[in-house]
Amino acid sequence: MKSKIIWLVIPCYNEQEVLSETSKQLQDIMYGLMEKGKISNKSRIAFVNDGSKDMTWNIISQLYEEDGIFTGINLAHNRGHQNALLAGLMTAKNYADAAISLDADLQDDVNVIEQFIDKFLEGKDIVYGVRSARDTDTVFKRGTARAFYKVMKFMGADTIEDHADYRLMSKRALEGLAQFKEVNLFLRGIVPMIGYETDIVYYERHERFAGESKYPLKKMLSFAVDGITSCSVKPIRMITTLGVLVFSVSIIMLIYFLVVWAFGRTVAGWTSIVISLWGIGGLILLSLGIIGEYIGKIYMEVKERPRFIIKDVLYNDKDI
Ligand code: UDP
Ligand code: MG
Repeated sequence: MKSKIIWLVIPCYNEQEVLSETSKQLQDIMYGLMEKGKISNKSRIAFVNDGSKDMTWNIISQLYEEDGIFTGINLAHNRGHQNALLAGLMTAKNYADAAISLDADLQDDVNVIEQFIDKFLEGKDIVYGVRSARDTDTVFKRGTARAFYKVMKFMGADTIEDHADYRLMSKRALEGLAQFKEVNLFLRGIVPMIGYETDIVYYERHERFAGESKYPLKKMLSFAVDGITSCSVKPIRMITTLGVLVFSVSIIMLIYFLVVWAFGRTVAGWTSIVISLWGIGGLILLSLGIIGEYIGKIYMEVKERPRFIIKDVLYNDKDI
């Protein structure tokens, strides 16, 4: 059997402090796997430079000069982690049988790369790296992450808990991913929609060994909002529900106000004002929800997501 070509895809944004160590460790692992005959020697370690402002790209070019196992992809501008990752994966799709994405800072344990490849060789198309413990995180990050997965689940998005972007995807899974044309890319929400056989590899997440996190609280929040709004129209539906609720309450109130008014226990003009207040408020919310439903439909349509991805076809062209 021909050994498979595996690409490692690593997005890098201002990672000059970590690249020399990261490249060394990955190089060792990849050469080890080649020696064992597990992966083809056409396998590559691909660094995607996400418009860094430091020496990152110079280091990547230098690595490429020194050893052809390294590949560099240079984005014209900083487009954020998810887009940089996609750029790398879409390039890898053209050359590799499978691609593994990981962070530049060695937080994703590189020693489990072999396990990813084993699962791939067993026939899995998507292998998720799931962190077994979160002790290296601050209490704050742990708490916010937990809340994030809870909200995601509530909003109906199918995400794998404690899985970041450390994952293996086969060529056909990458081709499936390529059919998702959306600009607001939230890979963690989309990859589970692709389907195919999946599996999980557990690993311990280390601390970033140099440099600092490129995900400050502000970016983390906008990432969470992006994740929810790009995977779900449930927030809109919540407005509709609220509209129905307020409107129902307004009808009950209407009866109540009329009764109070009939018994003459009100100030002149009060009844008509509160009735219109509740009635109109409820109607406005309800109409917003209905309009929102349509906007949600338009939103889903413009994404032009694939309606299906075929896994196997059984067919023969013999005369019967
Ligand atoms: N990254 C990127 N573009 C950005 C921000 C981050 O390519 O705009 C890369 C970064 O170089 C790293 C990965 O995304 O390889 C994860 O970032 P980081 O380690 O800072 O995030 P954290 O682990 O703190 O969540
Ligand atoms: Mg990190």
